[in-house]
Amino acid sequence: MALDLETREQLIDTVRRFVTERLRPLEAKVADDDEMPAAIVEEMKELGLFGLSVPAEYGGLDLNMEEECLVAIELGKTSPAFRSTFGTNVGIGSQGIVMYGTDEQKAKWLPGIASGEFITSFALTEPEAGSDSASVQTSARLDGDAYVLNGAKRFITNADKAHLFTVMARTNPDIKGGGGVSAFVVERNSPGLSVGKPEKKMGQQGAKICEVYFDNVRVPVANRLGQEGEGFKVAMKILDRGRLHIGSFCVGVAERLIADSVAYASERKQFGQPIFNFQLIQGMLADMKTEQLAGKALALETARKRDLGENVSMEAAATKYFCSEMVGRVADKAVQIFGGAGYVADHGIERFYRDVRIFRIYEGTSQIQQVVIAREMQKRSGQ
Ligand SMILES: Cc1cc2nc3c(=O)[nH]c(=O)nc-3n(C[C@H](O)[C@H](O)[C@H](O)COP(=O)(O)OP(=O)(O)OC[C@H]3O[C@@H](n4cnc5c(N)ncnc54)[C@H](O)[C@@H]3O)c2cc1C
Repeated sequence: MALDLETREQLIDTVRRFVTERLRPLEAKVADDDEMPAAIVEEMKELGLFGLSVPAEYGGLDLNMEEECLVAIELGKTSPAFRSTFGTNVGIGSQGIVMYGTDEQKAKWLPGIASGEFITSFALTEPEAGSDSASVQTSARLDGDAYVLNGAKRFITNADKAHLFTVMARTNPDIKGGGGVSAFVVERNSPGLSVGKPEKKMGQQGAKICEVYFDNVRVPVANRLGQEGEGFKVAMKILDRGRLHIGSFCVGVAERLIADSVAYASERKQFGQPIFNFQLIQGMLADMKTEQLAGKALALETARKRDLGENVSMEAAATKYFCSEMVGRVADKAVQIFGGAGYVADHGIERFYRDVRIFRIYEGTSQIQQVVIAREMQKRSGQ
């Protein structure tokens, strides 16, 4: 159920203040240390950020999609690594249970997910199954009251600290595509499950990705999400929803970079005047703002349609595609407006430039979003 307008404004205001007062001062430190301060994680828990999308009966804030997008926009105004801390609990790590979990599964895990007691990860990608995610090779063989999992997943966000993994594995080796895949909730302490060392990566220091290995891991049948063979569908539904969150988050990052660019351009003087006065600088700022406004309108309109129960597969893919590409262009122009100061680390602009690059790659690359959009166009045209 949607929040009343006053509560919604209060929530957004609280998140805005948390971002401004607590997170922004720590951006450089988190990047330098490649570590999230424990005290900040506790504050995130107290604010309910781990449970934004979890139903209220399980202790979450139960935001509808539009509300979640508005919160994501506010969260975008600081380093993306902060969002990553709880992002999997809000999206890819929890939504399989929210959408497909039985009452028992929900009661067992959702309260801990909402409170932040359980950190979750989503384990779909494998060395040989990236964009072609229906081709997962990790196997799940039924043996009595459990499935036995064998295989490896890679690039798994928050795997270093996850308590629960939503894992897609092949239950039917005779079916090559998605129809042979099932989804499971796998607990971290399951014997045979191990996690590799965090990867060194281009940006978002403070957020970790690791490989996850399954060596004869016994997962109770009771931990399967949905029916056998439904796992690829589960994964796609989860990613479909996440596209609006990521797109909105990109809008927030763009807003931050635009604000920083306007401030810098107003202060920095060349040729005896603020560089803001130069129309070529104004042109870049106007392009940044126009694209950000377009992305925001698309994200929020699509979120509202989803809340009304409409099929927004195409629009959600378009939102993720446009907004992730848009924030890349905005970050590039921000570096240009800051000049040399944008390239060196002091102002954090180069950090954002690196941080936002991933949004065009994970949860479906831009090319995969294009494929989804085109496929939906054809479907809707009745061809
Ligand atoms: C920081 C980070 C966090 C991540 N977090 C997670 C996570 O938590 N859980 C998880 O499961 N995965 C995660 N991933 C994996 C991520 O989703 C994949 O990297 C992504 O889906 C792309 O797969 P790939 O890297 O194998 O690239 P590939 O699929 O090999 O793609 C390489 C290139 O080929 C293009 N391409 C591929 N197929 C097509 C096609 N049909 N048409 C046109 N172009 C195509 C791609 O667009 C891309 O440009 C993460 C990755 C990173 C880097």
